[in-house]
Amino acid sequence: MKRRKVPLRMCISCKEMKPKKELLRIVKNSEGKINIDLNGKLPGRGAYICHNPQCLEKAIKHKLFERIFQQKVDKEIYVRLTDILTENDEDI
Ligand SMILES: [Zn+2]
Repeated sequence: MKRRKVPLRMCISCKEMKPKKELLRIVKNSEGKINIDLNGKLPGRGAYICHNPQCLEKAIKHKLFERIFQQKVDKEIYVRLTDILTENDEDI
């Protein structure tokens, strides 16, 4: 039997380790641009957050993305993240 390793990543907000697929990736590329990585394929430094509006709320409040990327994060990114997370929440 082969043991399959599920890659775990940590949510920057609640610090829980979860499979990559259950998290949303936010990426800062080499030009310092921050993007939401919906397909998990963008190059750059990534940060992960749960598909959970509460985690996002906390991340925004405590400027967790700013801390990780060491730069300002566009308000637009937060608006889009909120949209994405709220949508997913309804599916559950
Ligand atoms: Zn979380």
